Amino acid sequence: MRFPVRKSLIAAAGAALIALGLATPAAAALQVFACEPEWAALSQEIGGDKVSVYAATTGVQDPHQIQARPSLIAKARTADITVCTGAELEIGWLPMIVTQSANKKIVAGAPGVFQPTDYVNLAEKPSSLDRSQGDIHAGGNPHIQSDPRNMLPVGKALADRFAQLDPANAATYRARYAAFATKWQAALNRWQAEAAPLQAPPERRHRQPRIVLDPREPFLLRSGHDPARRRGEPSAGVEPATSRLQGGRSAS
Ligand SMILES: [Zn+2]
Repeated sequence: MRFPVRKSLIAAAGAALIALGLATPAAAALQVFACEPEWAALSQEIGGDKVSVYAATTGVQDPHQIQARPSLIAKARTADITVCTGAELEIGWLPMIVTQSANKKIVAGAPGVFQPTDYVNLAEKPSSLDRSQGDIHAGGNPHIQSDPRNMLPVGKALADRFAQLDPANAATYRARYAAFATKWQAALNRWQAEAAPLQAPPERRHRQPRIVLDPREPFLLRSGHDPARRRGEPSAGVEPATSRLQGGRSAS
């Protein structure tokens, strides 16, 4: 009697395991820790079902100032890659999280560290550093999400990095980037046409408010990190008074 019982138990356990395996979706190949929601969205777009993406912050938080909470450290512990803006944007909290996580995959210099600002030219590099002038970034303005064109070089580099970390799915990452680039380019063309009427004539560009237009092309760019270029702000990173914006007066 003992053998049949044991056999049936083993068979039942085996069936249960198979059922579990079928019920659980295939585990994602890469665990992505994205510091800002924009990079989480881009990671998801490029990675599809091959990645599991965690966004460390939401759009209503200030990414300069985040608490290194235990929940963030726990997520960093299992990450294969961090996708964080760089150029010192997260300098006040990310290094602490990485250290606490003790995860060698995401220490500075590891292939599991991806910084979008490494793949675009940063605007507004300050000629001198004076923190009393407000929120100044020494390496230039890291808020590159405000120019949608930057998503293309960053997306391509991210696809390459995913492919490097997970060669088995390299073709998927590159194909998904190609599909994204086609969609994004079409959107860029559309936005550019829609934004064209907003562009100020050259003689008025020096007195535009805080949300400025790139003088070269009609895309919104955010200023406020270089005193020489800030418009309407009492101090970089400090909100200008509404009256200044409404009046459209020159800030310089
Ligand atoms: Zn900033």
